[in-house]
Amino acid sequence: MSLFDRLVAASLPLIPKPVVRWTATPYIAGETLDDCIRVVREMNAEGCMGAISILGEFVNRREEAEAAVAEYEQVLAAIARERLDSNVHVKLTHFGLKLDPAFAYQNTRRLVARAKELGNFVRIDMEDSSCTDATLEIHRKLREEFDNVGTVVQARLRRTDADVHTLVKSRENLRLCKGIYLEPRAISYLDRTIVQRNYVSLLEEMLSAGCYVGIATHDELLVYEAMRIVDRLGLDPSRYEFQMLLGVDPALRKIIRSAGHRLRVAVPFGRQWYAYSVRRLRENPAMAGHVLRALFKH
Ligand SMILES: Cc1cc2nc3c(=O)[nH]c(=O)nc-3n(C[C@H](O)[C@H](O)[C@H](O)COP(=O)(O)OP(=O)(O)OC[C@H]3O[C@@H](n4cnc5c(N)ncnc54)[C@H](O)[C@@H]3O)c2cc1C
Repeated sequence: MSLFDRLVAASLPLIPKPVVRWTATPYIAGETLDDCIRVVREMNAEGCMGAISILGEFVNRREEAEAAVAEYEQVLAAIARERLDSNVHVKLTHFGLKLDPAFAYQNTRRLVARAKELGNFVRIDMEDSSCTDATLEIHRKLREEFDNVGTVVQARLRRTDADVHTLVKSRENLRLCKGIYLEPRAISYLDRTIVQRNYVSLLEEMLSAGCYVGIATHDELLVYEAMRIVDRLGLDPSRYEFQMLLGVDPALRKIIRSAGHRLRVAVPFGRQWYAYSVRRLRENPAMAGHVLRALFKH
């Protein structure tokens, strides 16, 4: 982490709310479902698929979790009604994981069942390392019943190698990302090059085993390596997709699309944009650096 990023992280509480909102604007569709539909439609028109999420996490009341599931059900209905090319992704702490894992499981099951009825797919995001075991367990349990659910693995974590060895056996549908949460050295790689090398090795294992992989990164070295692996394995574009976040590097989006690969853009929306932005910035000060650099560019 650079000195600049450290300084930015330390001064976060001093950044006025309107500035956080302004800098978050490119990365968030807006506050309402209508905002989200508009942005997903734009992405679809550009030839990209969407992945909608509602901002929110770590709820501490059951009613909040139930409200989140109901809101996600409305999103699924809107995707079907508006004929959007999009799935949804959810955070289990938004569905009550920290209150009661069994409750979070039931909430997620409800959404996955509704998605199944509508011919859609739910991806379970991976949160910080305190959630990894419970997330993988809920995913495993849902997979006993459903084929329209997948989860995420993080190249930053040392345990992911072993987790992937297990997940590839049943050819799971997985998103591979570096991992946004900065974790202690004992459980995670802190060196950027090691995270990159681990990403490539995990990707190769998952694709070789026949998993459907969402290759989530904006790191051009990893995009390059992923394209080499896909080419070497002779994979049809239907066997994987690239994934990027809304607002990040639209030029790379175009490069990936023009090379004939499928690309999904994650489109978050909701009223919780401030808490979400600040939390992300605190968790990963490098993100704070991106925000301030963007601020200086404007
Ligand atoms: C579709 C998608 C889903 C994700 N889901 C999860 C998840 O479930 N769990 C999880 O822990 N992490 C998730 N992440 C985040 C991911 O783990 C990384 O933190 C993030 O993508 C940055 O890593 P990178 O591979 O893009 O490489 P980096 O080297 O961090 O980024 C490469 C370049 O992309 C740009 N960039 C990257 N991120 C941003 C940003 N937020 N704002 C502005 N510019 C940026 C910068 O210019 C940077 O130099 C997801 C990422 C994507 C794209």
